[in-house]
Amino acid sequence: MSGPSNVMRLSIFDTPPYGLEDVSAINLGTILDGPSLIHLRGEQTPPLVVSVLLHGNETTSWDVARALIARARGRPLERAIMLFVGNIPASAAGKRYLPGQPDFNRIWSGGDQPIHALAAETLSIFRSVGPFAVIDIHNNTGRNPLYSCVSRLEPQHLHLASIFTDLAVYYTNPPSALSVACSAFSPSIAVECGRSGDPAGYETALELVEKSLRIDALRQDFQAVRALKLYHTLGRIMLEDGSTFSFDGADADIMIEPGIETWNFRPIGTEAVWARSGKRKSPLRVIGEDGSDMTDKFFRQEAGETRLIAPATPSMLSTDRDNARLDCLGYLMEGITLGAEG
Ligand SMILES: [Zn+2]
Repeated sequence: MSGPSNVMRLSIFDTPPYGLEDVSAINLGTILDGPSLIHLRGEQTPPLVVSVLLHGNETTSWDVARALIARARGRPLERAIMLFVGNIPASAAGKRYLPGQPDFNRIWSGGDQPIHALAAETLSIFRSVGPFAVIDIHNNTGRNPLYSCVSRLEPQHLHLASIFTDLAVYYTNPPSALSVACSAFSPSIAVECGRSGDPAGYETALELVEKSLRIDALRQDFQAVRALKLYHTLGRIMLEDGSTFSFDGADADIMIEPGIETWNFRPIGTEAVWARSGKRKSPLRVIGEDGSDMTDKFFRQEAGETRLIAPATPSMLSTDRDNARLDCLGYLMEGITLGAEG
């Protein structure tokens, strides 16, 4: 009765298909026909879960995977890896996700589409092996330093983040993100590796995975994370629905300040103009962790100009039009210090 399009199958490979490490992200579809779980042999278990290409155009993750697959061909890795490869059709198109698809990093807390069932199945496999840790690799489109996202302020999660760089963002929303879902049963981070193709992002991500394969345990105390600079997300900055927008000063409903992407991870005061528009209320909306509209707490609108009400530190501000429309303009954050136990 129902067509085959309603079925989405997770492909599981006990060993990487022949030649997999030779293809670039854009050509992965010639070997893998959908979301895939690939086992890489290792001397120790439980495995490290590495997730790549949840967003099809974030290719640093696949380059890291290629290096790991190539190394695992020779002899077993120090620790086994479960490699999850996400949105292959989007990779072929060079897109975050395709029209009609959900965002593959927003499918991990249930839903009624076939991909949600596949995500639940994948998650239950992860949970059943009790992974050593979970590392989900991403790129972003703006100018950002390399940093991790953690969703538990616990030593093992933070230690994992500190192996990447000394910068981490604490967030718990959306719960449908893979690293947030996995944090319930394993030390879990998402790493933001700058722009796709950035060599520093690639090298740092590969080093994170390599180091994670070689350590016997993540630390149970806060000793290792004293140097970690930690922020937490106050809200997502969204553009008002249906408005046209520009990043270069060109005429539009919302003219976002040119150069805004250089503000990432810098404290921004109350004088800086974020956007100009003919609107009476801020056309930049702020959506809190719980989904509520918190715009009036963060932005004020005066004479067509939008400014912060109190200083904040933005991240992931980007001038990528698709990103701004499909995801968000960026995030507002503030610094946090760990409690007395730190
Ligand atoms: Zn991503």
